[in-house]
Amino acid sequence: SVGILDGKVALVTGASSGIGAAIAEHLAGAGAKVALAARRMDRLKELQTKIECQGGIAITVMMDVCDEQQVRDGVQHTESLLGPVDILVNSAGILYYTLMKNLHIKEWQQMVDVNVKGVLTCVGAVLGRMVERRQGHIVNISSDGGRKGFPGLSVYCGTKFFIEGMSQAMRQEVAEFGVKVTCIQPGDVKTELFDKTTDQEAQEKYEMVNKMKVLEPGDVARAVVYAVTQPEHCAVNEILVEPQEAP
Ligand code: NDP
Repeated sequence: SVGILDGKVALVTGASSGIGAAIAEHLAGAGAKVALAARRMDRLKELQTKIECQGGIAITVMMDVCDEQQVRDGVQHTESLLGPVDILVNSAGILYYTLMKNLHIKEWQQMVDVNVKGVLTCVGAVLGRMVERRQGHIVNISSDGGRKGFPGLSVYCGTKFFIEGMSQAMRQEVAEFGVKVTCIQPGDVKTELFDKTTDQEAQEKYEMVNKMKVLEPGDVARAVVYAVTQPEHCAVNEILVEPQEAP
């Protein structure tokens, strides 16, 4: 079958779970050759099999986004098997509910390491080649927390505000080289993202238990496919996707 992304190479971080896995599946469904990146290889292999059963092309890449060498090696592995990366989707991310007064400093640092430095490392590993080839698209999975601060999520929101600011500025630098930068800003999606929290006070106070309205990972994935399938002259810079209120 012919897909709108036929021939394109997409590298998706955080592909072992949740939103990243759905994005990888949707991109493959649209014809892209997809490199599935994360630390849990068993989960990536499962997704690879699923994509291949659906007629898609996927490889797996063991990559801790906090490890510069692994990121560089992963990009090189992708290029040698599939060709240069046309689309980088930064979906790897972590969230801890923490009250600032409770000083869960290690968790703050971890969020900055993955959500901020990890994204920078991945961008750094592909952008040079994209500019050289005068073609490329970087899609950052930000958050509605990248537009607005939420209590209990001060550091998490800070990391996503960073993504927004960095993306806005970088977009203007790379436009002349044919490279696009998109931020997707999802509201709550039911994934494993919320399983890490240890600050019980923060969790009890601010994590909404049994939220009635949440998005599906596929809702975010469709937004990504939309952003990366537009004509050259059309830049989809931001997409805010939130659960629809019940009528
Ligand atoms: P999940 O917890 O389901 O998935 C997180 C992914 O990130 C996993 O694939 C995990 O893979 C990967 N990851 C975590 N740490 C690292 C690391 N050091 N190196 C490489 N990969 C890593 O969460 P979601 O799918 O929900 O989250 C995906 C993105 O979407 C995040 O950036 C999140 O902030 C954002 N987002 C999520 C929302 C939600 O409500 N769920 C709302 C708005 C934004 P592994 O552990 O195998 O390495």
